[in-house]
Amino acid sequence: MKPYETETDHRIHTALKTADTTKVIEIASGAMQNTVKIFKDLFDNMSAMIIADVNTYAAAGKQLEEIFRNNNLRLERTYIFDDPDLYAEMKYVDHLVEILSSGNAIAVAVGSGTINDLTKLASYRCKRQYMSVATAGSVDGYTAFGASITENSFKQTFFCPAPVAIVADLDVIAAAPPEMNAWGYADLMAKIPAGADWIIADALDVEPIDRISWQLVQEPLRKLISDPAGIQRREHKALCFLMEGLIMSGLAMQQAQSSRPASGAEHQFSHLWDNQHHKHNGKTPSHGFKVAIGSLASLALYETLIECLDGSPAIIEKSIDTYWPEFSEIEKEIRQKFADPVEAEQIIEQSRQKYVDSSVLQERVNRVTEIWPELKQKLRRQLLGFHEFKAMLQQVNAPVSPEDIGIALDRLKNSYGLARLIRKRYTVLDFANELGVFETCIDSIFNSDKYWQTANG
Ligand SMILES: [Zn+2]
Repeated sequence: MKPYETETDHRIHTALKTADTTKVIEIASGAMQNTVKIFKDLFDNMSAMIIADVNTYAAAGKQLEEIFRNNNLRLERTYIFDDPDLYAEMKYVDHLVEILSSGNAIAVAVGSGTINDLTKLASYRCKRQYMSVATAGSVDGYTAFGASITENSFKQTFFCPAPVAIVADLDVIAAAPPEMNAWGYADLMAKIPAGADWIIADALDVEPIDRISWQLVQEPLRKLISDPAGIQRREHKALCFLMEGLIMSGLAMQQAQSSRPASGAEHQFSHLWDNQHHKHNGKTPSHGFKVAIGSLASLALYETLIECLDGSPAIIEKSIDTYWPEFSEIEKEIRQKFADPVEAEQIIEQSRQKYVDSSVLQERVNRVTEIWPELKQKLRRQLLGFHEFKAMLQQVNAPVSPEDIGIALDRLKNSYGLARLIRKRYTVLDFANELGVFETCIDSIFNSDKYWQTANG
């Protein structure tokens, strides 16, 4: 084992002590060779079924078949999805349930986001455990509970346990399309603003920080994201740390039974554009790349907000009654902004769960006034500057301008207000709003050329 592999292994080992589903995680060069031992330790003499698509079969599935054959592991069959438009859709889960039900094999998902999510839910529906062989550092969902699947054209998270084992062979990860590892890098970078959102929610007693899952993600984070150029150059050390960060994020979500440890306002931008079925050049931009823009949007707001609160303390002394609406007004706003009545109702419910009346809000604002110097320090320690963050994303060729993923600037501006409404999760968007400075901050972001240049500016 290389020193960085040992280091990662040490942290993973500690993390596994508190994981309730995942028992084995191996991130190393050549790790696929150990798959048989891992499988037999966990499942004795049961047979395996490799699940792959055409690309992931070529990347790792074929090699895994050989390893199974050479080590006398019973392979019931290899199932390869050959649909070129394969995505995480319920019809594919149904199909996989049928295939798995024809025998009693344990599924070995060979792939990344889509294959893993399909296999996770299908295995659960067959009342079976499964294991995962990662083919790219593209997502943090490998070890998360739940699968993100589209049903009736709505993306939803379905309950299902994480894999019992996950193997990430760095030789395979290094051979993945560099863009895929860039998606995962952007999703890992997102844990910076997501952590800041949790710090705020914790400080205001909205959602206390769960120490264990916080540490899994945040403690090694700076180190794990520190070498974007290495990821771009496919260096094993940088990819090892990338996989570790992504897998740890999944474990943290498993531990917290919530996506809070891995997701804040930046993810709400991405969810919003998903709900809008946003496409760029005919294709849906990757989750990681949408989150990259969401993260920059969140950081721009943090910087502006901190400046605003520092520059004018009178702002948080202004009377709440001058800006705080009754919930019925928010309901009206949601119905106006979201045309689909079913979607509007869901969003109203989400917004209702974080709405507080003016007396509660008054206490909260008083508290902010009291703790602001300390809270600001915590946020500064957590956050990276917009431009530093942007430079890191650029090194993996991730998008840094909303137009790169087909979001015009005025649409991004509009997205701040919508992203705030769609989820009950308390983020910097709510914080700015509750302090009555939301509009001021957003205007200030888009009236300056500090963050994004307007087309004519
Ligand atoms: Zn994500």
